[in-house]
Amino acid sequence: MTAKIIDGKKIAEEIRQEAKLEVAELVKQGIQPCLVVILVGENPASKAYVGSKVRACQETGIKSLKIEMASNASEAELMDEIDRLNADDTVHGILVQLPLPHHMDEERVTERISPAKDVDGFHPENVGKLSIGIDCLTPCTPSGIPELITRSGISMSGKHAVVIGRSNIVGKPMMNILVQKGAKANCTVTCCHSGTDHLANYTRQADILIAAIGVPEFVTSEMVKEGATVIDVGINRVEDPAHSRGYRLVGDVDFDDVKDTAGAITPVPGGVGPMTVAMLMKNTAKAARLIHNH
Ligand code: NDP
Repeated sequence: MTAKIIDGKKIAEEIRQEAKLEVAELVKQGIQPCLVVILVGENPASKAYVGSKVRACQETGIKSLKIEMASNASEAELMDEIDRLNADDTVHGILVQLPLPHHMDEERVTERISPAKDVDGFHPENVGKLSIGIDCLTPCTPSGIPELITRSGISMSGKHAVVIGRSNIVGKPMMNILVQKGAKANCTVTCCHSGTDHLANYTRQADILIAAIGVPEFVTSEMVKEGATVIDVGINRVEDPAHSRGYRLVGDVDFDDVKDTAGAITPVPGGVGPMTVAMLMKNTAKAARLIHNH
C-alpha cells in the first residue's frame, strides 16, 4: 500500500489563515503585531529564508522590518541593535537569522533577545518553560510537526514517537513537545543520535518516526515499521546536473523507498518546510498577544 502524502503546503496555508485572523483581531484592538528580522552578512540561503519570512508577514498582516548588517559588523553592534528592539514597545518579535559569522557567539546573541520577543523559541528561558510544560514561545520547525500529523487525521496520544537527531533547533525541542500531555502530543518518546547503537532497532518500533539528521535519504524502508507516520525534517542539496539549478532538494528520508512501507509520509519539498514560516507567523501573533496581555 502506498502511504498517504501529508500535504504541508495545504496545512501551512490553513495555519497562515488562522494567524491572519488572530492578527486582524489584534489590529482591531489597536495592536499592530511587528516582527523584526536581523540578517548579518551575505549568506544566500539565509537571504532567501529572510525573504520568505518577510513575504509571509505581508500576507498575514504582520508589520515586518528587515535589518541588514555587514558581515564584519561587531557582536557589540548586533547586541546594541537587539537592546534597542527589546526596549521598543512597537516590536513584538525579534529573529536573528542563523548562522551568524564565526566571530559572533550565537548562544550569547540568542540570550540577549527578550524571552517575550523570542519568536524562534531558542532563549534558555523558553527552552526551560517548554521542558516543564509552561506555555511559551516554542521553536517553529518542531512546533509545526504535531499540526501536520493531527490535521492529517492521525492521532498521536499513546503512540511511540522516535526522533532521530538531538539538535537544540529541532531534535531536543521535538522530544519536549512530543512528551507533553494533550491531544497534539502525549507520545512515548525515544531520541536517537549519532551515538545510538543499532539505530534501526529503535526506528522500527516507531509509530511516528521523525528524521532531523541532515544526511540525504538516510532513512530507508528497512528502518520503518509498516504503517508508521514518517516526518522528514531534512533539507539537503544534492548535485543533479539534470536540474536547471544544478542541484535538487532531498530530505533525510529515502521517499521512494519508504512510501510503500509508511502509512503516511511528508514529501520534501512541500512537507515540514512550509510549516516553519507558518508557525513563525503564529508565534509572532502570540508574542504580541502575550506582551499586551490578551
Ligand atoms: P544538526 O546537524 O544540528 O543535527 C543533526 C542531528 O542528527 C544530530 O543530533 C546528530 O547526532 C544526528 N545524526 C547525524 N548523523 C547521524 C547518524 N548517522 N545516525 C543517527 N543520528 C545522526 O541538524 P539540525 O537539527 O539543525 O537539522 C537537521 C535537518 O533538518 C537538516 O537537514 C536541516 O537542513 C533540516 N532543517 C529543516 C528545517 C525546516 O524548516 N524544514 C529547519 C531546521 C533544520 P549528534 O548529536 O550525535 O551529532
